Amino acid sequence: MSEGEQSPQRSRWGRWAERLLDPLGWSPAERCLLVIAILLPGSLVFVLLINFRSGWPYLPPGADRAAMRELGALAWWVLAPWSALGIAALVARRRPTGAPVLVHLTVQSYALTIAAFTYITGPLYSPGWMAAMGGAMVGFLLFERAAALVGLLTFVLGLTAAMVAGRQGWVPVPVRAEPLAGGGLVGFGVTAVFFMAFTMGLAMFLITRWRQHERNVVQLSRTDALTGLTNRRRFLEVFERELARAARYQRPLSCVLVDLDRFKHVNDTHGHEVGDRVLVASAQALARGLREADLVARWGGEEFALLLPDTGAEGAMEVATRCLDALRAARTMLPGGPLGITASMGVVEMPAGGARAKDLLRVADEALYRAKAEGRDRVVLGQVAAAQAAASSSARPSE
Ligand code: GH3
Ligand code: MG
Ligand code: MG
Repeated sequence: MSEGEQSPQRSRWGRWAERLLDPLGWSPAERCLLVIAILLPGSLVFVLLINFRSGWPYLPPGADRAAMRELGALAWWVLAPWSALGIAALVARRRPTGAPVLVHLTVQSYALTIAAFTYITGPLYSPGWMAAMGGAMVGFLLFERAAALVGLLTFVLGLTAAMVAGRQGWVPVPVRAEPLAGGGLVGFGVTAVFFMAFTMGLAMFLITRWRQHERNVVQLSRTDALTGLTNRRRFLEVFERELARAARYQRPLSCVLVDLDRFKHVNDTHGHEVGDRVLVASAQALARGLREADLVARWGGEEFALLLPDTGAEGAMEVATRCLDALRAARTMLPGGPLGITASMGVVEMPAGGARAKDLLRVADEALYRAKAEGRDRVVLGQVAAAQAAASSSARPSE
């Protein structure tokens, strides 16, 4: 098989594996499939044990052979709802939403199956409770809270009903109440440890994925989709934080607003797609011109903002000029030849004693528009008016 034939297949498997390892991206029906995939073979093993190993190690000592046969025959029925649910879940698998009936049926079936298991293995012993508790924990992670709560209630009511029925002699096998010994004890121990390890492992995996998911969402909420730069919201957060820090430690701090020149013309002449490419190239050029501690953000449309901590007006003018050179040099390759771009920039330095972010941004914006008015492709330093600086510093009660 050639390379070209292999890669789509590999990527399909890759995509499949990626989906499999991301349970939070599963549809409700796929989440049901996980439960079914555990309970259907699990129930089968249990039914086979009851039927072909004389119920060992699960049946109470009081159960006679006839009762075991009766129970064994009854146990096969457990497989019917699980198989039906499996088919329904496979059919509904691709539905992105809903399937609430399927979810409820799956959770209730789990609760009833585990109630039956707990009755047979003995309500005083741990495997049933492990399965119930673990199931509830995973249920709360995978499904709506209401479905998991109702499932928990069903488990308690189902087990109570089974115990009442056992007392009245309505079911073939009495409830197990005797202490275990020998092989039975080992069997129970192994089952309990298995349930615990399995449900804990599953819950841990789900929670780990959840945290990863949350980190991704936070990252996305701070990032501009086109350029991959920090977005305006995050820039403002960092700006406020850095302003407070700079004022407190009496460190300089500067901010630069950047607006690409005649960008509308780029869009009008070459189309939006080329416009987008120029924006990405400009973002990269700006980022290249900065230090680790600096921050560059997409401020809006074809505007960017730079935050330069520990940098005074003179240093900021230097950085801005260097960025402008980088922008000029970053040419976007087009069929008709390279396309260059320039920008206008407004620089502002925080006055001693601090200032509010919005005041500094206004000054930078005014400087930027002076740069435009003076012919574009240049950097202009804005001055915070003395009165304004005094007002902003006296407006800071903690300073
Ligand atoms: P000036 O030199 O005065 O700044 O002129 P300009 O054309 O750059 O100014 P104007 O603000 O009028 O135009 C900005 C243009 O940027 C208009 C808008 O279509 C374009 N723009 C904004 N966001 C995007 C974007 O995400 N992609 C593309 N391709 N264009 C965008
Ligand atoms: Mg603009
Ligand atoms: Mg512009």
